[in-house]
Amino acid sequence: MKASLVIVGAGPRGTGVLERLAANLPALYGDRPLDIHLVDPHPPGGGRIWRHDQSPLLWMNSMAEDVTMFTDETVEQAGPVRPGPTLAEWAGADGQAFLSRQQQGAYLRWVYERSVAALPPAVTVHEHRGTAVRVSGSRDGRQQVWLAGRPAPLLADLVVLTLGHLDAELPPEQAKLAKFAVRHGLTYLPPAFTADSDLGALRPGEPVLVRGFGLAFIDLMVLLTEGRGGTYTTGPDGRLTYRPSGREPVLHVGSRRGVPYHSKIGYPPSGERPPLPRFFGPAQVDELLARPGGISFRRDVWPLIDKELGFAHYHRLFTAHADRTRMAWPDFEEKYAAADPGSAALQALVGAAVPDPADRLDLAALDHPLAGLRHPDAEALQEGLRGYIEADLARRHDPAHSPDLAVFLALLSVYGQLVRLGDRGPWWHGFFSYLASGPPGPRLRQLLALSRAGVVRFLGADTTVTADPRRGLFRAESPSVPGESVTARALVEARLPEPTVAHTRDVLLRSLYAEGAAATPAGLLAVDPADGRILDRAGLPHPRRFALGPHTDARAGGAFSRPGTNAPAFRQNDATARALLTFLRDRAARPGSAGVRRRPGSRRARRGRR
Ligand SMILES: Cc1cc2nc3c(=O)[nH]c(=O)nc-3n(C[C@H](O)[C@H](O)[C@H](O)COP(=O)(O)OP(=O)(O)OC[C@H]3O[C@@H](n4cnc5c(N)ncnc54)[C@H](O)[C@@H]3O)c2cc1C
Repeated sequence: MKASLVIVGAGPRGTGVLERLAANLPALYGDRPLDIHLVDPHPPGGGRIWRHDQSPLLWMNSMAEDVTMFTDETVEQAGPVRPGPTLAEWAGADGQAFLSRQQQGAYLRWVYERSVAALPPAVTVHEHRGTAVRVSGSRDGRQQVWLAGRPAPLLADLVVLTLGHLDAELPPEQAKLAKFAVRHGLTYLPPAFTADSDLGALRPGEPVLVRGFGLAFIDLMVLLTEGRGGTYTTGPDGRLTYRPSGREPVLHVGSRRGVPYHSKIGYPPSGERPPLPRFFGPAQVDELLARPGGISFRRDVWPLIDKELGFAHYHRLFTAHADRTRMAWPDFEEKYAAADPGSAALQALVGAAVPDPADRLDLAALDHPLAGLRHPDAEALQEGLRGYIEADLARRHDPAHSPDLAVFLALLSVYGQLVRLGDRGPWWHGFFSYLASGPPGPRLRQLLALSRAGVVRFLGADTTVTADPRRGLFRAESPSVPGESVTARALVEARLPEPTVAHTRDVLLRSLYAEGAAATPAGLLAVDPADGRILDRAGLPHPRRFALGPHTDARAGGAFSRPGTNAPAFRQNDATARALLTFLRDRAARPGSAGVRRRPGSRRARRGRR
């Protein structure tokens, strides 16, 4: 029987695995026959998130030069490098441009087709446009992959689950709000991939409460403004003015921090890069992993991250902007190395060596940008926040603040190190995204124009939303404007769902969990970091089942790989592809297995068919 590999999920990750299969196949598997089945309800390449069928107004959030699907010499992998263009090179676009999700989808589709074409003739790829709902089969036998609405399963020697971003069942608070909405004829949109949400119920001119000020908010903002026919004009001073179409609702947006994510940095790196990793590298990760009794993120990991980010910041400040410091770098560096993060000694050192508070790195203040700020009324808050966003835009486009870029590079470095520690929970992901993965500058300029036009209104920090049963409305309040509240008939949760293996709406993943797959405390599928094999609750890797991507604890940064960065996702994809091919080769080499012809019905042939 021909060897068979089933990949469930044909988005970027599934495509990346296919690219690595094509690269490694000739050396590891030769010209033996193989069926590769790809299962996804969306077309392979872009998959769900990057499908063509979505608004062309939605952008990707990475600069085109920072996105590649191809390995390079920096990637520590056993397999061969197969060079290929970055998104910018492929699209012939300015490297600093933010291309649309549709364009990224076209790039991914092209990578997919190129990978399929690179497979040897004995390999056949079968596309199945459908949803996998269950994997069955014993540990040491062939697996069956069941697709919704199909009576017979796909048979698989090996299964790879690259399921990506999944929907979640509503947690109790959201379920309550949803019920409240039904009871009172209101609109409640729970966390979702915005392109999938039905925004039709958000009516022109009506107030809409929005919880969440990250990238999902930006998508929502775009779809409800330009997406409804509004336009921007640019004044002689470069300032945007929004011309409403009249079909926009009024978005009242709030969140814990109360501000949008920091603008993308708008200048390229220059000069000496911070020598990273310094305080949080492989040696520290080894030491953490060896600790008996496990590790706590806050107690054990965060201080190392804090120190690493601070090191990058001050290294850049002292080497590129020495006129704003009062100490020689070697002196500062030595004292910095000796001081604990957050300690009085560190504060004293920074206080003495860096006179301008704007040049000091204060991660706690960054995490609570509106802490303690109170405004007399909502208008004052609108003005205050517009000022905040303008200042952020100016700073993030001004190379005089290049220590911000050094911190960004350190965040990427830290993310790479954290991969070996498994998932570190939602706070870290949120903090990382807030600092390192905010909207492109043009989106924040649009936000400012929408605020001036009154289409977007800011609610403030620590926004709470409650259901007001007396009036049958949603109500939002924030301590940023004491004593004021906003009521509305619509509430949108502007963030992605956070599914756990137990509460995802993906029945395939839920059934795996019910049948014994292990999960991390954060509810992610636990996999062997060496090759992506799914672990059971005793920590035993499944010989025939693999998983990679955001639904696993090997999330690998959660973003597209950047060229020249030894990207963790590439390393993982290569290791998994090689483990798959090695398994299939060894299986084929066993007497009586696929690839070796036996008389039908012989015992050996039957064993080969398991
Ligand atoms: C809205 C959004 C925007 C993002 N923007 C950026 C960005 O600009 N830059 C960046 O670097 N990163 C971005 N990311 C992060 C990351 O790069 C992408 O999430 C990337 O899409 C992850 O790829 P993936 O293949 O692991 O998951 P996905 O893209 O989610 O693909 C998984 C695929 O699996 C399929 N699937 C799931 N379950 C089943 C099943 N049971 N049966 C069959 N098929 C199934 C889905 O249909 C989907 O096509 C973004 C993420 C999101 C959610």
